[in-house]
Amino acid sequence: MTTVMQSPIRIEENEADNIARIDQLRKQRGDSLIILAHHYQRLGVHRCGDVTGDSYALCKAAANAHKARDIVFCGVRFMVTSAATLCRNDQVVYHPDRNAGCPMADMANLPQVTTSWLELGEVVNTRSVIPVVYMNSDLDLKAFCGERGGIVCTSSNARKVYDWSFARGQKVFFFPDEHLGRNTANAYGIPRDQIVLWDPKLRFGGLTHEQITNARVILWKGYCHVHTRFDLAMLAKARAEHPGIKVVVHPECHESVVAAADFVGSTGFIQDYVLNRMKPGDKVAIGTEVNMIHRLAVQNPDKLVIPLVRSLCPNMFKISTGDLRECLENLDTWEPVHVDPREKHYARVALDNMLACAG
Ligand code: SF4
Repeated sequence: MTTVMQSPIRIEENEADNIARIDQLRKQRGDSLIILAHHYQRLGVHRCGDVTGDSYALCKAAANAHKARDIVFCGVRFMVTSAATLCRNDQVVYHPDRNAGCPMADMANLPQVTTSWLELGEVVNTRSVIPVVYMNSDLDLKAFCGERGGIVCTSSNARKVYDWSFARGQKVFFFPDEHLGRNTANAYGIPRDQIVLWDPKLRFGGLTHEQITNARVILWKGYCHVHTRFDLAMLAKARAEHPGIKVVVHPECHESVVAAADFVGSTGFIQDYVLNRMKPGDKVAIGTEVNMIHRLAVQNPDKLVIPLVRSLCPNMFKISTGDLRECLENLDTWEPVHVDPREKHYARVALDNMLACAG
């Protein structure tokens, strides 16, 4: 009996076959179907997106997908539920792999946030506190914010969201990513002693009443394991090995890494940097998810595009072209994404605040 080994070439053949079939199915459905793909999706899946981008761009695309009836979202769960919140009632959102979640989003849940908010209210008047929830969160937390005059932010609009928030309140309660909140506060010029870290496992977040009263930004103790892997030694190594190289990192990185980098920005910014700001022969080391860096390197062979270190998001990696193909081939029976109507109502308030303030 002959054993057939799976070789890399065989995988590429499958990928090409899947992409050809996906293109065919897309043509059959015409304008009634739109495929959205996040920048961290694998090369083949990203190639199949009608719209590709960071979570903010894809959120806008879902809100503006006027012709489409079916929206297939290649990303993680918090993006998919946001799209299902922003689209019309007659549109249907599908997720090719509903197991693709986000560990950072799981670091804050509604009971914890509600308890923390009540504890905050024992110290300060929460009417002066604006709850700001990162896009990378469950829908019930977006609804929590919407119900309390708050807003959603993404890594591409966080500064504008701080403008919006400080025009309406004296403090920001930012969850679940400490680092995006801290890097934005640093760039905003907020003094370090007015930025505090709230540990949801401790009463009053582990803070004194004085710290809470004096704070302008209260950060949730959450993080993205993909971005907190990067450290200063990696930057030093890249610069030593490739003289003249620039370092560009995502704002979910630690503040020390952001301070040492040449540029910081969302995935949309990083892509724009490689495509439009670099000239042939230029070099860049990037601190973000490795699939995106790999794609940019493949698409720009005349530039040196390398990761600070290979840091992969296993959840973004879950969706393959095979999954997308299977979803499209069975779209009429694929389980649509459901969102609770009450959550949808208030989450939409917070998402609409974001879209209105960030343009
Ligand atoms: S890269 Fe980080 S924040 Fe984004 S989905 Fe993966 S774990 Fe979540």
